Amino acid sequence: MNEVNKIRPPLDAWLRDWSANKRYAVLAKLAQPSIRDLAFARAPVASRLDSEAAVLVLREFLALLPPDEAGPALDRLIERHPACRHARAWRAEQALNAGHATAAIADLKRAMAAGFDDLHVQRLLVAAYGSLPPDARSPEIAAAVRPLEDRFCGKPFSHFETTESGDVYVCCPSYLPVAIGNIHQAAVDDIWNSPVAQELRRSVLDGDFRYCSRLSCPAIQADRLPTRAAVAGPAAGNEGPERARLRDFATAGAAKLGQGPAFVNLSHDRSCNLSCPSCRTGTIIAKSSEQEKLDVVRDRVVLPVLKSANRVLITGSGDPFGSKHFRDVLDHLNPELFPDLRVDLQTNGQLFTAREWQRLAGLHSMIGQVYVSIDAAAPETYAEVRRGGSFSTLCANMEFIAGLRRAGQIRRLVIAFVVQACNFRQMEDFVELGRRWQVDLISFSRLRQWGAYKADDFARRDIFFPGHPEHGAFRAVLESPVFAEPFVWLGNITSFIGAAPAARARPQ
Ligand code: SF4
Ligand code: SF4
Repeated sequence: MNEVNKIRPPLDAWLRDWSANKRYAVLAKLAQPSIRDLAFARAPVASRLDSEAAVLVLREFLALLPPDEAGPALDRLIERHPACRHARAWRAEQALNAGHATAAIADLKRAMAAGFDDLHVQRLLVAAYGSLPPDARSPEIAAAVRPLEDRFCGKPFSHFETTESGDVYVCCPSYLPVAIGNIHQAAVDDIWNSPVAQELRRSVLDGDFRYCSRLSCPAIQADRLPTRAAVAGPAAGNEGPERARLRDFATAGAAKLGQGPAFVNLSHDRSCNLSCPSCRTGTIIAKSSEQEKLDVVRDRVVLPVLKSANRVLITGSGDPFGSKHFRDVLDHLNPELFPDLRVDLQTNGQLFTAREWQRLAGLHSMIGQVYVSIDAAAPETYAEVRRGGSFSTLCANMEFIAGLRRAGQIRRLVIAFVVQACNFRQMEDFVELGRRWQVDLISFSRLRQWGAYKADDFARRDIFFPGHPEHGAFRAVLESPVFAEPFVWLGNITSFIGAAPAARARPQ
């Protein structure tokens, strides 16, 4: 039996089996162990979101087919499974190599609609646009192709972010989607200086930023990464401890660190009182068996890592008041045991009442920033984007929180707005709400595909795509001078400011 027949079931059966859930299983079954090993050996620092290794397996498998079968097999695969980003990426790469950038972009856009955080797809997209004249590039691509060789980012040297699976990241997992370890499997020190963590730091020290999403990272998109020389040089005026830390990292150039993370983002419990469509398809509250595991994690990882940290954020995954686990963590914190720790709360605001604030009386002196994610300036839109929430309750609680800020009981108040088709016309009103509540910062950011939206639904909401029918109207909204106010932060939207372009058709 020849090599092809040994590993290949009839082509039709192969294509029939290729469903989204079975993708990896089918690949593993079909690919020779040597090919699979080769794939992962070539991509040792890969994330489950990065299709590079899977594309490699797919292309090695296709290469085993007779030459005249490989192209049609790939086309049929995409025809039957239009959202398969691995197949789209491999067809796009071949188109790009043949000089057909526009065809490559069409496939890559579809691949990104299925998985925005796929770094392999993003790299190909940047390369495809990079081969076109500058005026054919969207603003985000123009920002993504800027050279970063001389830049520096302190995140991989100071940031420790947990996620629901227990995986730990050194930046927001959407911006740098490679895990350095897992809180259910390893102790803090082993995670913090794991080989993967060191490789990520190497990529920043060497200036290749290979694992960073140039399309998503707000610092890259807004051109806010400092040069390494500026970080390593003397500070202007008084140098705070964080600035001194970064200077040490930038000058020492070491990827293995002798001190723990300064900033911890606890996002390993998704329990929340709401169920927003951008985030989940139904309510998520940890079950009692999960609570037991969370208790173990609290004692083995969470409380120890907070000993070395000077700031903790609770939480980016759910709500600090809607999660039994995070309420429990808060109950374990006090200024005597954690004298250097500042506690930042990220919440939807629905449960942040005077009574809840009183319950936290033991840590009032530790509370730093309160970040309220809102995404609307009108009740109907709020009901849509914050499913289960009440705009009037939010406004009442915001008046209370704003009062805490005015009284100096919290150090900073931020409100946040994720922009999409249903709310972009309320952006200016949101700035007015921020003025009324006298917040320190109003943060806007682009809608992301977290996996809760179907691909078509996401495409309808993705106002950032130049082919979206309302993209021009969105760009026109950004022309308002209110967005130039110092307390407004446009982050990864910044690159969209400028004359609205003529709409382009969305690739099918
Ligand atoms: S993704 Fe951006 S913020 Fe994160 S480490 Fe890379 S450059 Fe820094
Ligand atoms: S409030 Fe935040 S964490 Fe809770 S469901 Fe909505 S987006 Fe998710």
